[in-house]
Amino acid sequence: MATRTRKVVGYGGGLESSASGLGSFMLGVGIAALLVSMIVASNSYSARGLWIALGIAGFLGGIVWFVVFRAVAEIVRLLKRLNGLTYAGTISQARPIEATVCSECGGRLYDWRSSAPQQFGEDPEASGRRPRCPHCGVELTTDATSCD
Ligand SMILES: [Zn+2]
Repeated sequence: MATRTRKVVGYGGGLESSASGLGSFMLGVGIAALLVSMIVASNSYSARGLWIALGIAGFLGGIVWFVVFRAVAEIVRLLKRLNGLTYAGTISQARPIEATVCSECGGRLYDWRSSAPQQFGEDPEASGRRPRCPHCGVELTTDATSCD
C-alpha cells in the first residue's frame, strides 16, 4: 500500500520567474496595442496611417521587451546554476542543425538529387553516372541518413 509523501518536483518563484513573466506581459501589451490601434484606425479617417504605425511600433516594442526580459531571466538562471543554487524555469537549449556534407572532404552538399538533372541530363541513375562532390570531385554513391 502506498502513502502520500511530499517531495520537491521543481522550483518556482525567484527573480528569473518575475523577469520571464514581465517579458510575457510586455508581449501581451504589444499585441493589445496592435489590436487597439487597428480598431482605432478603422474608425479614424484622418489619422489612419498614424494609428497603424503606432500599433506596429507597439507590437515590435512588445517583441523586443519579450526577448530582453527572457534573456535577463536566462542570465539569472545561468548565474544561479553556476553557483549551485536552485532556479525556476528551464535554460534554453540550442538544437542541432543538420546538413548534407561530403564524407571525404566535409564540404556542404546541397540537394544533389534536384541538381543532378541539370548536371547529368534527365536521369543520372539511368545514364549510369552518379553526381560528384563539387568541392573534391569524389563520386557520391549514397546520401547521408542522419547525424548522431
Ligand atoms: Zn567532397
